[in-house]
Amino acid sequence: MKTVSDILKTYWGYDSFRPQQLAVIDAVLAGQDVLTLLPTGAGKSLCFQIPTLYQQGICVIISPLIALMQDQVKDLTHKKITAVQLGGQLNSEEESIIMQDAIEGKYSFIYCSPEKLSQNSFQEFLKKIKVSLFAIDEAHCISQWGYDFRPSYRKLSILKKLFPSIPILAMTASAVPIVQTDMIKQLALQQPRIITDRFLRPQLKYSIQKVAVKLHTLRNILNQVNGSVIIYCNTRNNVSQLTQLLKAYQYKVDEYHAGLTLEKRKQTQHMWMQDEIQIVVSTSAFGMGINKSGVRAVIHYEIPGSIEQYYQEAGRAGRDGKKAEAILLYQPNDWDYWISVQEKKFPPIDIIKQVFQHLVDYVQLPIGMGEKQQFVFDFDTFCNRFEIDKMIARNALQWIEQEGHVSFSSASFKPSLVQVLADRYTIENFESQHQILGIVLQTLLRSYGGILDSPQYINESVLAALLQRDIYFVQTNLKKLQEYGLLSYEQKENQPVVQFNWNRAAASFMKLDLDNYILRKKAFQERIQQFGRYILGQDLECRSTFLAKYFGENSPQPCKICDLCTSTKK
Ligand code: ADP
Ligand code: MG
Repeated sequence: MKTVSDILKTYWGYDSFRPQQLAVIDAVLAGQDVLTLLPTGAGKSLCFQIPTLYQQGICVIISPLIALMQDQVKDLTHKKITAVQLGGQLNSEEESIIMQDAIEGKYSFIYCSPEKLSQNSFQEFLKKIKVSLFAIDEAHCISQWGYDFRPSYRKLSILKKLFPSIPILAMTASAVPIVQTDMIKQLALQQPRIITDRFLRPQLKYSIQKVAVKLHTLRNILNQVNGSVIIYCNTRNNVSQLTQLLKAYQYKVDEYHAGLTLEKRKQTQHMWMQDEIQIVVSTSAFGMGINKSGVRAVIHYEIPGSIEQYYQEAGRAGRDGKKAEAILLYQPNDWDYWISVQEKKFPPIDIIKQVFQHLVDYVQLPIGMGEKQQFVFDFDTFCNRFEIDKMIARNALQWIEQEGHVSFSSASFKPSLVQVLADRYTIENFESQHQILGIVLQTLLRSYGGILDSPQYINESVLAALLQRDIYFVQTNLKKLQEYGLLSYEQKENQPVVQFNWNRAAASFMKLDLDNYILRKKAFQERIQQFGRYILGQDLECRSTFLAKYFGENSPQPCKICDLCTSTKK
């Protein structure tokens, strides 16, 4: 019989496991629930892939990011291992074909998004296949205490209820003790094995530079770095602006954030991985699952939202074990950004109620009606009609959804994205030769100022109204323009709909779980305050030991290389 090492060698070509991998694999094969806390790049994927190939049966992986799932499915398929992804781009017909194949035992690995689990049909499907393991990627997303809470992850708590005898492997790169406890509780893990690694990175030099003119300091740093660099900013705008500035200074640099097309993002990532560009300026969207050697510096141009986030991002430097720097550029008024985020993220209860009232007005739901009814819900139109700030609206709606009043389809908050690829001359030329397409293109350019320079979220129904046609007309013609190579069009996944889960009561009766609200607000504030301690903490001796203790390590040793350890004042 083949051993797990044989499988590793045959499919992956690696000679040996890393120590923690073997521990996880053994525990999984023993049928235990497992929680692994290992840094990005540690090789967590193998921890569920190898046992599945060894013991047969199907592994169902739940992951928050479609792109990550696609990569893994591609990777496995390439190795002649049967894997498939459910959810995302498939229509229901394609999905039922795949499900049928799965029932017949065609796939060893099934990737799906957490939302899927709330569908009855999907739960029934899971009962029909031979699941041997549930693997939950980025499991910290389940905890409201975590920095990356995703309401959809809460649905995972039904796994143990429906399948009490199937083991769960929960994986994450970082979790403070309180989030660990929460993950175990929410997923109802039974006497889980907790497998983790030391958190310290002996070769990573942490430092904070309080500066008046950041760009100046940044350039000094960049001029000395010999290797790849990531620079993190908090907003897409800041990413774009900084990228332009650095380009003007002739650095080999490009930008990365969720507002760019998938194609552009892939291209930037690829060029950076291949060392064709030295620097990526990015929001926190960049880096999950990336494992590149030769990264000599990670620079935070602004204060990140939590220690967890900072630790993960900074830890992308020096993966190869050679010396690297994690530098934070700091200015006291950087805190203003987080104060405004907090105000938007936690709208007053009155505002949440008001947004709920707007929602029922928007779908024109009479009192006493609504249960299990679905309505088309267009987020942009909604915000425009009631003149609500988008971030406030989004967060208020999220609260309402979490309370179980309504459910939004996943397309509700992700509009279509268009990027114009042709220059003005080509466009004018094209417009003169194509009547209908020309008008569509013109309307697009007029409605979205700046679309010639950067990709923009668009709203097909707005364009349809301007053109006095229907949405289908707009979609078809945008696709045609894409075929002509004039633009790229990432159409929003599905018709965004909102479903009411019970009959409408007056908004003032809407029961809000205040405990939850207060808990999450407190957790948010605490994360920011913790970061304040990291930056300013008078009692801090060493940055590394501060981080290690934060993640629950008992008596870490000073690193001797961070700015505090080497400070002359000591
Ligand atoms: P994580 O999910 O923990 O961030 P991945 O599963 O994506 O990490 O793995 C990171 C990289 O490490 C992948 O390229 C993977 O092939 C590689 N890797 C994993 N295990 C081993 C091993 N035992 N030996 C060598 N490379 C490995
Ligand atoms: Mg991973």
